[in-house]
Order: sequence, then structure tokens, then C-alpha cells
Amino acid sequence: MDRPHDVADDRPRMAALPPPADAPVAGCPFCPGSEHETPPERWALRDHGPADGPGWRVRAVPNRYPVIVPPEGAHEVVVNSDRHVAAFWDLTAEQASWAARGWWEREEALTRASRRAFVFLNQGAQAGASLEHTHAQLVGLPVDPPRLAAREASFLTGTCPLCADLADPGDRLVARAGGLVAWCPRIPPLTAVVRIAPEVHAPRWDRPCAEALGRLLREVMRAAARVVGTDAANVWMHLGRHGGPDAVHWHVEAIPRIGTLAGLELGAGVYGLVVDPAAHAAGLRAAMAAPAADR
Ligand SMILES: [Zn+2]
Ligand SMILES: [Zn+2]
Repeated sequence: MDRPHDVADDRPRMAALPPPADAPVAGCPFCPGSEHETPPERWALRDHGPADGPGWRVRAVPNRYPVIVPPEGAHEVVVNSDRHVAAFWDLTAEQASWAARGWWEREEALTRASRRAFVFLNQGAQAGASLEHTHAQLVGLPVDPPRLAAREASFLTGTCPLCADLADPGDRLVARAGGLVAWCPRIPPLTAVVRIAPEVHAPRWDRPCAEALGRLLREVMRAAARVVGTDAANVWMHLGRHGGPDAVHWHVEAIPRIGTLAGLELGAGVYGLVVDPAAHAAGLRAAMAAPAADR
């Protein structure tokens, strides 16, 4: 990360997201009171009120600008909270658990209706988010995208690669909580990736796992932002399919957006690591142990 630079870069080195707004923000289609700005909801964790009105904590709606539409597939948004929060870690731990329950509810629905469901979260403009209010996205696809198919195939070669990596995480361990473990993979797909997976091999998640994931992901993402100095981040999930091979070990990958993919990465698919996984894990452990900073 201390590689010298002499090319002007007008992006801020520190992409900091705004602090939470605890009143609805004018013009935000994901804030309470603006439910009419989205397509009708598919699911909500709701305290009161009818569908498509206020009274919800988490709300799933079709994406207004879908990459795929029925009957071929589906593209949904899970609004993670009724609070206008840009950084996932500015939710409370309980709110983060409710958000991840929403991801689980909709992934269950989409994976039964599609060949492949994929859950991801883009946070910050540098990570591809077009709306600030924290949200996850799900796509239901009629085909196996090459990267997801390759990921599934990697589990079919004999020993589970995640169980093998987790057998001796050593200095790469970040945290354990709720039956889940967060660690820096020995051979990460990209610099600063943290994986979160169940400690015991399982191809699919369930609601308690999802809620534990929300809590742990919040801690890991906050620590990663502190360590690398940017709030922009991507998160995605690899889950087994219903009826798919049990050899899959479900997991999440979270990555703060540092650096830019350039010619070698985009053209050849060769990714150099600029941070050692054990050193990154040490930084994350220290950041998680430090008191939460006020925003
Ligand atoms: Zn909002
Ligand atoms: Zn495994």
C-alpha cells in the first residue's frame, strides 16, 4: 500500500461516507415515507402498517433498474434499514442482524425460483453504489455465471478448500462469533479480502446463521474500513444451491475498495497482493479490539 504514485488521482484517498441521518432524507427512495418511489414490496420485516407504507425495519423490493426481469430471472433490492445509514456498520448490531435476515428470506425465495441466486452489497460510489442508503441486492439467474460455476467446481475436487484453510488459520484468524469464523484466506482472490463462513461445513445458511452473519459482518467491515482508510466496500456471498452439491461450504467475501483494477488484472486475470493476509488479519483484530470511534 506504500507503492509510490506520481499519477494525479482526483479521487479522495479516504472515501468517507456521511454519518447516519436519523430522520428520512428528502429524495431518498429507500427512506420511510417514500415507499411509493419503489416497485411494490416483496417482503418486509414490519412492525405495523400495510405493505408499501411506513412501519417496516427491512424491506425487499424489485430493483427499479433491473439487470434481468421475469420470467428469465429477478433483480431485487433489500433496503437494510429504515434508517438512512450509508455505512453498514452504522446500523446497530441488532439492525444488522435484521438486514441479513432479509437477505436470507429473499435468497431462499430466489434460489428456489432460479438456477442461481447471488447476494451482494455495494457500499460507496467507489464500490458501485448508486444510492447512499444502505441496501443489498439479489439477482436470480437462469444460468450459472462462469465465476460462480468455477467456485462451485472448486469444492468438488475432494477436500473442502475452506475446511482445509480453516483447519489451521493461525495468524490469519480475525474473529469467531455465533458459529461463524472470519479470517483472511491463505490465498485471497483479491487484496484485503476477509471471508466469513460457518465453522462447521454447511452448503446452505439458515435464519440464525444469517442473523449472526449480519452482526459479525458489521464488525469486520468497520474494522476493515479503519485499517485501509476507506468506507467503500463490496460484499458477496457464495451459497450452495437447493439440490446442489453438499460439498459447497457457504461463505461471504468482504473487500474494502483499495486500489483500482488495471491492465494486468482486467486483461490477464492476474491479481497481485499488496497486503500479506496475516498482517491484514492482525490489523483487523486490533481494530476490532479498539473502542468504536464516534463518527
Ligand atoms: Zn434513505
Ligand atoms: Zn468445508
